[in-house]
Amino acid sequence: MSIIASNFKTNHTRKSTASFVKEVNDFLVSEEISNDVYIFPTSTSLDSFDTVSNFNIGAQNAYATQKGSFTGEIGTEQLEEFEIKTILIGHSERRHILGESQEEIAKKFSFYSNLGYKIIYCIGEPLEVKEQGIEQTLEYVYEQFVGIDTNYENLILAYEPVWAIGTGVTATNDDITSVHSAIKSKINKPLLYGGSVKVANVRDICALPGVDGALIGTASWILEDFKQIIKNTK
Ligand code: 13P
Repeated sequence: MSIIASNFKTNHTRKSTASFVKEVNDFLVSEEISNDVYIFPTSTSLDSFDTVSNFNIGAQNAYATQKGSFTGEIGTEQLEEFEIKTILIGHSERRHILGESQEEIAKKFSFYSNLGYKIIYCIGEPLEVKEQGIEQTLEYVYEQFVGIDTNYENLILAYEPVWAIGTGVTATNDDITSVHSAIKSKINKPLLYGGSVKVANVRDICALPGVDGALIGTASWILEDFKQIIKNTK
């Protein structure tokens, strides 16, 4: 049984998210699937989702605040309205496109861990680092743990090599196992793999040693694919 998480990124509307969530819930119930399943919709589509009983809805991002003057951000006051207690932190798109520094990420981690939120914490190296070899890759990834309490009880990690995200290029089994086993030897937490995971490769990836599940973008936005992914890893 694997942990399967869908990151919607900037996809789906409020309406399509609601129907997607309901369909996934009905599917989990009817197939009696007990995978640990997460969906991270856009912040405009967050809801309490009365239909959800069998999985978790989380926020892709929020600011380290209850409320205040942080234009464009949401805080715990908005999350709690929908009983959201799960958050993604450190995603590579926030690090590299939105410019979040390790310091800001660590501050966010400490704020949300102090409140007991379940955190999926993402790490991963860009292509130029991967090309330098495994030692440099691990060094880069370990830097992404600076300021992070890796003993936090409600923590799930996700290794997402930046060069594999949204590119269709999945890391090889060797790439995945070498990074996963190195991280696992230091940090005893569930560790997901992310980066071009799809129906065709999810079973093999999730069966690798040190892989506890998958964090999925593109393939998870299509309902039938997402259901098949869950089925393939139950
Ligand atoms: P893709 O599955 O589209 O490569 O995205 C992975 C990811 O970034 C999930 O957070």
